[in-house]
Amino acid sequence: MDRRDFLKASLASTAALAAPSAALAQHQDGQDAKTMTTVAFKGGEKVSLLGFGMMRLPQKDGEIDATLAAKMVDDAIKAGVNYFDTAYFYIKGKSETFCGDVLTKYPRDSYYLADKLPIGHLKTADDLERIFSEQLRKTRQSHFDFYLMHALNAANWKKAVQLNVYDFLLRKKAEGKIRHIGFSFHDKPEVLEKIAAAHPWDFAQIQLNYIDWKAYRSKEQYDILTKRSIPIVVMEPLRGGRLANLPQDAARMLANASPDASQASWAFRYLASLPNILCILSGMSRPEHLAENLRTFSPIRPLDERERRILDKAILAYHNTLSVPCTDCRYCLPCPVGVLIPRVFTAYNDFKMSNNARRFKATLAAFDEDEGPDGCIRCGKCMPKCPQHIRIPNELARIRAEAAKL
Ligand code: SF4
Ligand code: SF4
Repeated sequence: MDRRDFLKASLASTAALAAPSAALAQHQDGQDAKTMTTVAFKGGEKVSLLGFGMMRLPQKDGEIDATLAAKMVDDAIKAGVNYFDTAYFYIKGKSETFCGDVLTKYPRDSYYLADKLPIGHLKTADDLERIFSEQLRKTRQSHFDFYLMHALNAANWKKAVQLNVYDFLLRKKAEGKIRHIGFSFHDKPEVLEKIAAAHPWDFAQIQLNYIDWKAYRSKEQYDILTKRSIPIVVMEPLRGGRLANLPQDAARMLANASPDASQASWAFRYLASLPNILCILSGMSRPEHLAENLRTFSPIRPLDERERRILDKAILAYHNTLSVPCTDCRYCLPCPVGVLIPRVFTAYNDFKMSNNARRFKATLAAFDEDEGPDGCIRCGKCMPKCPQHIRIPNELARIRAEAAKL
């Protein structure tokens, strides 16, 4: 099997899993040509599939450009967007205040507000009530529709358990101050499995897009939540904007197939093809982003078979432009000392494409001892297992040397 055939085979599963969502398709039946797609939640509520992420609002002189941002929110609401997502730390805490300023002029039952408890910031159980009350005050709300434990990973989950955070949230739910309890997640699927099993969560928020489906094990995370019927709110649908700014070959394939469609619309429509998606968050910072998203989601059209095949070819082209041609097949694992070979290569490829040294260094720093490029002892056991014939120890040494200079 040559490299191209291998890549084709490894990507076939992406297409197979991206069968159109029956619920979504059904819901779209009868909708007007320009109606925002909504998803039924808990039987009665209708959540707009496009959610407004309030973490990248337009800014001017270091402050939220309140006039422009408010106009974008107004336009979004007029077009049918009803899900707004903020958090304690977004825009240095100013996102919550802005949400209060802009949303409270609308009837309370016309929008859903999601906010998040900063688990990593908690010191004692007393912080729970203090921060929660502060959030209600800043957003000028009597309740949150969706409330999440923010950025759960193994360490934050341990803290949430120690401080009985879930019980606190249940009390708030009983008081009518929270309607739905969820969490956002950034860690391995093994950790997610444990968290998902711990409580009857109403929803969960994970990073999902057509590249991370394999590269960051998002498929495994998606499967864990879907198996438990936990509706998914998607973050990073454009992978930090990179799927709206594809390498040349991939970009050309999508443009040839559909000259008028934006690259971002392919990424959103891919997600709309998956069942169990409640909402796709987009951190819109310019009116053009909003206008383009409204075109895509009003209503959204899941990818058809032909488009899925074209997207798979574009994913192939995307991988072919990578600095290390790793497809994340994981055949090289386990490494006897525990180097997470594909994750190191993915982080490095991301860095070479984005030039974001800070993120690359943070990713390497988050690895446990021996999981990063420093762990490699050049035993060579991984090399014969790599279908891409990557000289893995040499590449790890190159990455190590490059990282040391950053
Ligand atoms: S060569 Fe390095 S990465 Fe490969 S198996 Fe040995 S220690 Fe692990
Ligand atoms: S290094 Fe090779 S074997 Fe390992 S995940 Fe990447 S492509 Fe697969």
